[in-house]
Amino acid sequence: MSLSAKLKYKFMKDYGAPALMSLQGLKRRRSRPTPSAFGPPLESNARLKEILTRHYYLSRFVPGVKKVAWVTSGAPVELLRVFDFYTIYPENHSALVGAKKQGAEYCGIAEGDSFSQDLCSYARIDLGHMLSGKSPAGKLPKPDLLFCSNNICQTVLYWYKAISQELDIPLIHFDAPFVSDRQSEADIRYMAQQLQDMIPILEQVSGNVFYMSDLEAVLKRSQDSSRTWGNILKAMQAKPAPMTIFDAFGHLAPIVSLRGLPVAQDYYNILAEEIDDRVSKGIGAIRDEKYRLIWDNIAIWYKVRYLATFFAERKMNFVTATYTNAWAETIDHLNIKDPWNSMARTYGQIILNNNLKHRLGLMRRMIDDFSVDGMVMHSTRSCKPYSVGQYDLRKAISTSLNLPSVIIDADIADERVWSEQQIQTRLEAFCESLEDTNRG
Ligand code: SF4
Repeated sequence: MSLSAKLKYKFMKDYGAPALMSLQGLKRRRSRPTPSAFGPPLESNARLKEILTRHYYLSRFVPGVKKVAWVTSGAPVELLRVFDFYTIYPENHSALVGAKKQGAEYCGIAEGDSFSQDLCSYARIDLGHMLSGKSPAGKLPKPDLLFCSNNICQTVLYWYKAISQELDIPLIHFDAPFVSDRQSEADIRYMAQQLQDMIPILEQVSGNVFYMSDLEAVLKRSQDSSRTWGNILKAMQAKPAPMTIFDAFGHLAPIVSLRGLPVAQDYYNILAEEIDDRVSKGIGAIRDEKYRLIWDNIAIWYKVRYLATFFAERKMNFVTATYTNAWAETIDHLNIKDPWNSMARTYGQIILNNNLKHRLGLMRRMIDDFSVDGMVMHSTRSCKPYSVGQYDLRKAISTSLNLPSVIIDADIADERVWSEQQIQTRLEAFCESLEDTNRG
């Protein structure tokens, strides 16, 4: 570890990052007012922005101070925290690029280097970033280690292999067998053993030693944060709901990319307090909430504002989503006294690694618990594991619950796939059918 890099990092942490935050606060105070279809914005938005900006800003100064790991959203990051890796989530970075409507540009760079347009846009954006060095966050630190799990999809394995080969750095893959019925004890043992086998390589890359007490502390923080996040989502059962799922897409970032760190837990405590306060005062995220909706699949990052406004103007609020729920759903499997097996249970059963029957049961419960009146499914070109089966799910749900529903075809971060006229026509027809069902 170089002394000058360490001093620079410490200076930026103590002075550079706070100065940047104050500047941002100033800009925010000058920002435009909220459109009238919405209730008052969440005050926690400011803190969220600070945390994420600080995370990306400090990452520029981290090489030479800490080892950097690039990690997939479903990987058991707690193990890396024990070794003090600075973690970067390419999926989160790609969502940021998508939200800034720069997805097509980054995807185009990867496609120009022979990566297929059929590849997930998170992967193409990340590869475009790797090939060009571009980033709306300024600059991302090069990884010393790649850590992925196929519990979300198989794409991540080939994507991370491509980076590993290009940059000549080690890749650790956590293999999670798909749960086609129930998770078997053999699968749990297989995953638990993999986690333990990772320790020597993590010690070697990081230069730090493993202590079980550190892992227990990280797991406890991770579980507390995920439970708090789950409680925040549950609070959206209130009428009116204190936030929209479009807000939740943003507030999800710390539980994805800072999970296991004290900053994530502190943040969710602040957000939970604000949400509880709004519930007790009857403050809704949109004005005059009339209909409550469920969202299925990942956000359409470049159209979050458009969709939020489209529905809020019609007094419709998304109060729950399978996507935001994913980082809270399996957390009760975690048992600090049995870390290896319980991590295998927690990470092996997440929604994208679980069967459609499970997803159907989950969605039915959500529709019931959150008093949902209608369902919007985003069939995304990028994410096959999330999109395959949606037509069957829709049929099963709409038929048994007589729930108006619509499927829209788009993409998570590649705005070239968005067809505004076609989607708007479908959404307007859906809104009419929702009104008709409730009139009848
Ligand atoms: S969006 Fe889907 S395909 Fe892309 S990385 Fe995530 S899980 Fe994999």
